[in-house]
Amino acid sequence: MNTQPVIFDGHNDLLTRLWLSSAEDPVHDFIYGTLPGHLDLKRCQKAGWMGGLFSIFLPPYAYVKNNHPDKLVNPSHSDFTPQEIIDICRAQLALAQQLQARSDGQIQICTSIAQIRACQKNQQLAIVLHLEGAEFLAIKPELLDVFYESGLRSIGPLWNRKSLFGDGLNASFPHSPDTGSGLTNQGKDLILSCRNKRMLIDVSHMNERAFWDTLEIADQPIVATHSNAHALCQQARNLTDRQLAAIKQSDGMVGVNFDVAFLRADGQRNTQTSLDVIVDHLAYLIDHLGEDHVGFGSDFDGCLLPDDLSDISRLEVLIERMQQRHFSDQLIEKVTSKNWFSVLNKIWH
Ligand SMILES: [Zn+2]
Repeated sequence: MNTQPVIFDGHNDLLTRLWLSSAEDPVHDFIYGTLPGHLDLKRCQKAGWMGGLFSIFLPPYAYVKNNHPDKLVNPSHSDFTPQEIIDICRAQLALAQQLQARSDGQIQICTSIAQIRACQKNQQLAIVLHLEGAEFLAIKPELLDVFYESGLRSIGPLWNRKSLFGDGLNASFPHSPDTGSGLTNQGKDLILSCRNKRMLIDVSHMNERAFWDTLEIADQPIVATHSNAHALCQQARNLTDRQLAAIKQSDGMVGVNFDVAFLRADGQRNTQTSLDVIVDHLAYLIDHLGEDHVGFGSDFDGCLLPDDLSDISRLEVLIERMQQRHFSDQLIEKVTSKNWFSVLNKIWH
């Protein structure tokens, strides 16, 4: 391949990182290229990374309290107040809106494939808004409509903690994804509401029972935006062969997560991890799902990357490794963008 492929990516945590940032104006820093971390606009443009699913995410309370106490109304509490939960999610939505408004046309929140295609043509960064963990909807269900009107088109109802919607997933190693009870009735209702809005439903942080509950009611292509193959890394967040077969059956897809702990056979948080391991997961998933059902779900700005892929500017090294492992140009194009466009098109139509 002589030209750099366009990359559309199933998962990143930029909005949460901007919210946690202590910089005076992190939105400015992102747009003008001086923001530390895995991503900023200039590096994205240089890497041919045209965007993807951007997560609105409530970080664990202990993490915020220990590392960013200035972000809390009262750091002596033991958990977020309901109002804080709502405010944090609203603040991350507002950050996405600011990115668009202040980028001089370079960043666009997208709600359709036509808009994403236009971004590709005009070399704009495409933001598809995704919600990871829906706790604030347990507090104020009517906010689903408000966020939808603001562009939210993808939802992972559960994260690793228990909520009104289900048990969440205990991301331990080595462990099967079967870590607790499935969806509650409220969780099932939320899936139905999102299905009726034709939103993407993400199973990446679901335990196995919630996964099967979702499959039963979703009636649309099922997507794991940032998970890997359990056969290669027995982390509970990864997908068993049976789950992969069900995703294939639903005409859905899996985005491969670049976090070393979800890649390595030993599950260690060791950044000395060869990029071949990412290619191993891609190849395994392609083997089980077919080449139209696998993409990237990097988890940039929310994960521990291999040293050889220290930030987005090193994505070309991964592409080279895929070429060395005899991925054709056509297959690389599918994995790096086309499969995501196709699954979003199927779900949103
Ligand atoms: Zn995640």
